[in-house]
Amino acid sequence: MKRPSRRSFLASSAAALAAGPAIAKPAPAATAATDVVIVGAGAAGIAAARRIAAAGRKFIVIEAENHIGGRCITETRTFGVAYDRGAHWIHTPEINPLTKMPLRGGISIYAAPPNQKVRIGRRNARAGELEDFLAAQVKADRAIAEAARKGDGSCAQALPGDLGDWQPAVDFLLGPFSCGKDLSQVSAADFTKSAERNADAFCRQGLGALIASLAAGIAVKLSTPAVAIDTRRNVTVETPRGAITAHAAIVTASTNVIASGAIKFTPQPSNRHLDAFAKLSLGSYDHIALELAGNPLGAESDDLIFEKAAGARTAAILANVSGTQLCLVEVAGGFGRDLAAHGEAAMVDFAADWLAGLYGTDMKKAIKRSHATRWNDEPYVRGAFSAAAPGWQGARRILMEPIRNAVWFAGEAVHETLWGTVGGAWASGERAADAVLRRLGTAREPPTLLVEPHQRRRLHAAPNTLRE
Ligand SMILES: Cc1cc2nc3c(=O)[nH]c(=O)nc-3n(C[C@H](O)[C@H](O)[C@H](O)COP(=O)(O)OP(=O)(O)OC[C@H]3O[C@@H](n4cnc5c(N)ncnc54)[C@H](O)[C@@H]3O)c2cc1C
Repeated sequence: MKRPSRRSFLASSAAALAAGPAIAKPAPAATAATDVVIVGAGAAGIAAARRIAAAGRKFIVIEAENHIGGRCITETRTFGVAYDRGAHWIHTPEINPLTKMPLRGGISIYAAPPNQKVRIGRRNARAGELEDFLAAQVKADRAIAEAARKGDGSCAQALPGDLGDWQPAVDFLLGPFSCGKDLSQVSAADFTKSAERNADAFCRQGLGALIASLAAGIAVKLSTPAVAIDTRRNVTVETPRGAITAHAAIVTASTNVIASGAIKFTPQPSNRHLDAFAKLSLGSYDHIALELAGNPLGAESDDLIFEKAAGARTAAILANVSGTQLCLVEVAGGFGRDLAAHGEAAMVDFAADWLAGLYGTDMKKAIKRSHATRWNDEPYVRGAFSAAAPGWQGARRILMEPIRNAVWFAGEAVHETLWGTVGGAWASGERAADAVLRRLGTAREPPTLLVEPHQRRRLHAAPNTLRE
């Protein structure tokens, strides 16, 4: 979940620079009996592997793609600077497990600007308007929290009817931008349980590069998709390159991949598990990345900009990423999904027209190279990040239960407060590894809660500082 919180909305903000790729070399093909087989080398899989390795147990990591990182991948080919095709923000750095890791290979992290901007037509919002927007957000957030205390309906049902002409902007910010889904499809309890985002950080070399650096020394068998997992006797994972037998498995494929049936389980997981995967489906969230020469948006480094939208056809801008000319137009939810289905050219056209509406048609001349992600069509992910359907917040706990004491699930969906984030995926991978180590007789204390109850939901309790 990407919900920004307790940020001041400003008319201006702060700066920096970038480099560094994240593609691992293929590991040699081999099939062998091992303690643990880990399916997937995204954040959760790498975290699990590091934990198992630290305990001195044998493991094999298999990854369907020809690179590691999953939804967390940085490349420099397209723009000549670090471009995170998936996750980019390091949310809640004070409690994010990634910020506790020793940084290697020149990787550096810096604080994100604390403020956001809002465009109203072709001008920046004024202080009073920013206050109105913030007040509408606070009202919506409180109404969702209040509704969640009474039951687990949708966030949309909980919204107050008096958000006025800020309603579409609030809908976008809390729904598509934060959860990848429209608010009618998001559980109020899941939304409310998510950790507050009082601060964020970025990695100059890209978040994917950070994850890749943490995978150093972990052997990963690339281009090796698990197609079947049999738990009748030990665990056997079938791949096109042979079968792997192990005492336990940690499966980190996304909920949409599992729900699609791409991995055949024998015996079938319980209906509880199957329902949980289906009800924690991934929303839609994509970057339309543009190289903009000459800073036509007049933005500072890493400015996050929304618009006072008139409807669902809107986006957010992350401008001048780490001080470069790279700008990300973020499209998400139902509108983003429909747009992405029309292909990359339609996405870039939308971004150019939308930006021209906010900054004038001349800005189109500044567009140099472009690229758009289409995560819904990535066969080994099939979406962006999970958000529970109304009534299904409890599904996250169900996914923490192993199948036949042999297969544990991990990944961003398997975290109750940091769902939808790389930090949540990492923590869930560590937790699954600890559970497997206990099962193997390598004792380890259960991990401490990453987010203590008192750290949750502090977001809108105190007024924000607003500056024009
Ligand atoms: C566009 C976008 C922007 C985002 N922005 C942010 C952000 O700013 N901050 C943030 O914290 N989070 C963000 N997220 C969410 C974040 O990327 C994810 O929560 C996190 O990376 C998920 O990690 P994971 O290990 O759970 O899953 P994944 O990254 O999906 O890893 C699972 C791995 O399993 C592999 N796999 C799948 N099926 C098989 C199989 N059958 N056999 C073997 N391997 C298989 C996949 O290829 C993948 O590598 C964003 C996501 C997207 C898509």
